[in-house]
Amino acid sequence: MTARLETVVVGCTRALAAAGIALLFAAPAIAALPTGTDTFRFGNRDAKISVEAGAASPRLRALHPAAGRVLEGASAAALIDSATIDGKPVRLHWQLDREASRVEEKSLSLVYVDRGSQLKLVWEWQARAAHGPLEHTTHIENRGGREVWIPLQDSFTFRWKTDVQALQQLWVDKGAGEAPPVGTHLVDVADGYHWRGESSAFAHPRKDEAREIIPYFLVRSKGEAGDGWYLGIEFSGRTAMTLKRRGDMLEGGAGLNPEPGPFRTRLAAGGEFVTPTVFLGATRGSIDDAGNVLKRWIREAINDSRTQRDPIYPWTTNNSWGSAMAISDAQARRMIDDAAGLGFEMFHLDAGWFRAVGDWHPDAKKFPHGLTSVADYAHARGLKFGLWVDWAQAGISKEKGALDVADPAIRDWLTTDPPPGWKPEEFKGLTIDIGVPAAKAWVAKEVDRLVRDYQLDMLEHDGYVVAQGCDRADHEHATCDPKQVKKYTDDGFIWMDAPNSTDVSYHAARAYYDIHDALRQDHPGLLLEVCNDGGRMVDFGSAAHADYFSIVDAYDPVSNRQAFYDASHVLPPAMLETYVKEWPAKRIENFRYMLRSGMMGWFTLMLDTTTWSKERHDAAREEIELYKATLRPLIREADLYHVGPRADGNGWDGIEYFDAKRGKGVLYAFHGKDMSAGTHTFPLSGLNARRNYRLSFRDRSSADITRSGRELMQGGVTLKLALPESSELVLIEAL
Ligand SMILES: [Zn+2]
Repeated sequence: MTARLETVVVGCTRALAAAGIALLFAAPAIAALPTGTDTFRFGNRDAKISVEAGAASPRLRALHPAAGRVLEGASAAALIDSATIDGKPVRLHWQLDREASRVEEKSLSLVYVDRGSQLKLVWEWQARAAHGPLEHTTHIENRGGREVWIPLQDSFTFRWKTDVQALQQLWVDKGAGEAPPVGTHLVDVADGYHWRGESSAFAHPRKDEAREIIPYFLVRSKGEAGDGWYLGIEFSGRTAMTLKRRGDMLEGGAGLNPEPGPFRTRLAAGGEFVTPTVFLGATRGSIDDAGNVLKRWIREAINDSRTQRDPIYPWTTNNSWGSAMAISDAQARRMIDDAAGLGFEMFHLDAGWFRAVGDWHPDAKKFPHGLTSVADYAHARGLKFGLWVDWAQAGISKEKGALDVADPAIRDWLTTDPPPGWKPEEFKGLTIDIGVPAAKAWVAKEVDRLVRDYQLDMLEHDGYVVAQGCDRADHEHATCDPKQVKKYTDDGFIWMDAPNSTDVSYHAARAYYDIHDALRQDHPGLLLEVCNDGGRMVDFGSAAHADYFSIVDAYDPVSNRQAFYDASHVLPPAMLETYVKEWPAKRIENFRYMLRSGMMGWFTLMLDTTTWSKERHDAAREEIELYKATLRPLIREADLYHVGPRADGNGWDGIEYFDAKRGKGVLYAFHGKDMSAGTHTFPLSGLNARRNYRLSFRDRSSADITRSGRELMQGGVTLKLALPESSELVLIEAL
């Protein structure tokens, strides 16, 4: 997109104002802050902010949407006001450095310095695209020669006045593990409202505990024309967001999770702390309108542009977990042959191929010819080759190059000492802290070897790559009194909750991004899948450093549709992978329902198709062909509308895609077990009221029909399905 971004100076010198000359400095850049001017308006076509460069701190004075109500704020940005040097507390007195500050076309940075501590703080905003949100980051740099410890610097805090009585908040849970019971929350924001959401890479909620969120929320006035604004965090460490309402004030913030604090982090001499980047956007219209703008921005501004240009992204995939840990060379070749015949584009070798946890070399008993020959076999049949690795997990293998917990060098990378006699599980070990430079270097080298030696087109990571806690005293992150560390075992992992947990995750998440960025740079075309124990790392930080997510760890049709319904509010559907597992499909209609429940985003089949009947092969081949030719272009580019309720396995549910540019779309309609409602009407969205559209029913549940956009959006399209757990795809074409 080449649309001009606006940078406008609204504060003006009195002399010029008196002369009646409005100061409107549009792009190109203004360098250092002009003298006598301290208020700036900065942004893109959807959102602008008014910023005041105060002498001791910046202020965000207002958020201006393209249309609708301006949100006015009053409070100054909360900059940290103390630090610790040589064990002594020091008060910070920030002063604006006018010369070093910059207002440019796509970025605004206000620089503050504290002379005593020699800390420099850069309060930065960026407008990376003409539409969508603006991004905000704070950098704190230690320019002195001594180590400095600092408390938590929030990424963003707000205190805004609102005159809207009927406000609502939307947020979305991660699919982490089992799909959550609610998933998509839409709640009234009345006086006294107080909400807090948390995200990390290692959700393990107890029964009835709040689920982790995809770190984002939207606040809007109720109704379809709702004015609104949204906030999200681009980070995979421990983060939290809050929203409170007191009368006409809305307050809250976003950033690293301060609990269980107190948080502190080390700034070595010359070192830098960077807050997780947040994005802030303004919106008007429906919840789906807000989501569609955000998803376009993610594709344009934070996804890898090479992946976006790949004409067959998202790749149709067959995954070997249909054979679980029993996978072997012979079985992999059988599956590859069958996958190629079905029209798949990638064979994905899941867990079960390696010698042992931490020892990422092929098991010679299962793969006597190594993995390269399996990769060659897939490539020769026109398939890409992907591999599962749990690369941050250590085990007990004594083989050369293995991460062995008994090796003294590796032992220091572990997040904790293993208990006596400890053994890894089948594919889970003990997490290493990749925030340790030597551990990060080992991983970077190891994943590069895996990609190179095994000719990988895709690398998937599982397990916990961002450490959840760490009790080591000699790592870069903060330490804490061992008495404060709550250490326990759950689901095969050792966990530690302690005051330093957020800082541990801060360093590890940064290292994780460096590892992925280096891989992408060295291996153009390589795709990176974030599995992370099934949907536990679905966030905007990993969206910026990888290509797609496993969004849930239960793979039946209803779980897949629930997790997709939730995550597709905020993340590009091409990134949302649902695995399709064996499920008791009695009839071919049930079989298609099972496949299509995983075909709304990235489609991965996790079944041994060599055992399928001819009828199943034929049906799957047709569905995959339709996916590639018709559905995938919509999944990549089209707007998405939640035109039915979230799946509950009993009633009806549905998702619509419509691409206004091409005049094409599809309605995925699903019917659960309960046959008491034999028909259902889905109102469509995104159409032009005055145009006519032809609707064709893929399974011929109805003859083709032609209707106006108005009729389809107001009246809807009525589906009739005779069988429980069946589906229909309605193709929409503008005439
Ligand atoms: Zn550590």
